[in-house]
Amino acid sequence: MAAEIRGRLKIQVSSFRERHGFPPTLAVVLIGADAPSAVYLNQIVRSCRSTGVSGQVIEIGPRVTTALIQRRIEELNMDPMVSGIIVQMPLPSRIPLRAVIEAIDPGKDVDGLHPANAGLLTLGYEGFLPATAHATVEILKRSGYALEGLDAVVIGRSNVVGRPASLLLQREHCTVTMCHRRTRDLPGHVRRADLVVVAAGAPGLVTGAMLRPGALVVDVGINVVDGRIVGDVDFESARLVAAAITPVPGGVGPLTNAILLEHLLAAARAQHEDAGQGAHAPGTGRPRARATSAA
Ligand code: NAD
Repeated sequence: MAAEIRGRLKIQVSSFRERHGFPPTLAVVLIGADAPSAVYLNQIVRSCRSTGVSGQVIEIGPRVTTALIQRRIEELNMDPMVSGIIVQMPLPSRIPLRAVIEAIDPGKDVDGLHPANAGLLTLGYEGFLPATAHATVEILKRSGYALEGLDAVVIGRSNVVGRPASLLLQREHCTVTMCHRRTRDLPGHVRRADLVVVAAGAPGLVTGAMLRPGALVVDVGINVVDGRIVGDVDFESARLVAAAITPVPGGVGPLTNAILLEHLLAAARAQHEDAGQGAHAPGTGRPRARATSAA
């Protein structure tokens, strides 16, 4: 699926470049780099390169102030060559996430974290979607599963994955139960679910014995255990019970990267081609880009 999206993007990016003389550019803001961020960053940069998108990494040292980060993001907001901005997480603990996210122009917020985009998602309007949550639902739709009416359980309620995934599943007419650390009977909820989305960051949290036979399982978790990357689901036991399950690595992750670049192209087009059709200028604090994937 990711390869199919990237193949199509490559053609679209090339024609954008012909029309405008520059490629869509993704700015990745990296504050106080750590090892997992570096791995993720490499994947993004590789993904950019394979589609002709320009990837720009803005490295900011760990001892920087919040005000300086905001100023740097404001410069990126005003730079017409920069189509989209993502901030690599986790941030150093003393930097407030909200202050950084709110500094991003909602029209360049291609990972859908700004409150304006989160609000649009909540209300069911078009806006940039968090790429991982978007990929979680796309992987099911592109596999041909009918989601309407399914009992879905989402484990994890973060703003980045669990919460937006649950909203997107509601859009698909699922009946959604959100579970989290304080859920009393997680196995009981999972047992009743036709669809289980796991985004907890807890390896082995869901096992085959917990699943209803024939359930669909989307494993979003990325954990390092004994030097290996594993998800939140015990794949070997779950695959014997589930109708379908996404692997880790190689499942939601690659699709997330491809979808992020789709959002980026949508942003670039909105900034340079949709002027006067409901688009807003950068820095107005108002969303303007359509970010639903063409799929
Ligand atoms: P987070 O720590 O912000 O949120 C985790 C959520 O899971 C919380 O709501 C918490 O209550 C819940 N949770 C944690 N342990 C639990 C348990 N034992 N039982 C029930 N609920 C539990 O994490 P996040 O940023 O949402 O990421 C979740 C996972 O998804 C991580 O493993 C992360 O690496 C991965 N992730 C993957 C991608 C991708 O592209 N595939 C992108 C982002 C995050």
